[in-house]
Amino acid sequence: MRPSEIMRQQLIARAERQAMKPTVGRDVHYVSAGSPVQPDGSQMYPSTCRAAKVTEVGEDNVIGVMVMNPTGIHFHSIGATGGVKLEEGACINSDRLVWPSAPGTWHWPAHVQ
Ligand SMILES: [Zn+2]
Repeated sequence: MRPSEIMRQQLIARAERQAMKPTVGRDVHYVSAGSPVQPDGSQMYPSTCRAAKVTEVGEDNVIGVMVMNPTGIHFHSIGATGGVKLEEGACINSDRLVWPSAPGTWHWPAHVQ
C-alpha cells in the first residue's frame, strides 16, 4: 500500500473515532504511566496500552475506567482521580505509530486489518 493511501486511511479512521462517544461498558485502551526512568534511560515497565472498560462518563470525553493489567486491575474514577482524558493517538504497541499516546490517557483501540 502506498504511503499516501496509508495516511488517508489513518485520517478516515481518526475522524470516525472522534465521532464516537464513550458509554459505560465500552472497551477502550488506557495508556499506563510506566515505571520511573532510570539514570541510564531505561524503564523496567515502559508505558503501554492496557485493556480498560468504561465505568462512568463525564464531560468532554473524560471517563472513569477499570484498567485490566496482566497482573491485576485498578480503577480511575472521576470522583477520586478526576478521571481519564481522551487523547487521540496511536496505540503504543502499534507498528504504524504516527502520533504516540500520552501516559494516563485513553483512546479507542486500533482496528487490526
Ligand atoms: Zn492503544
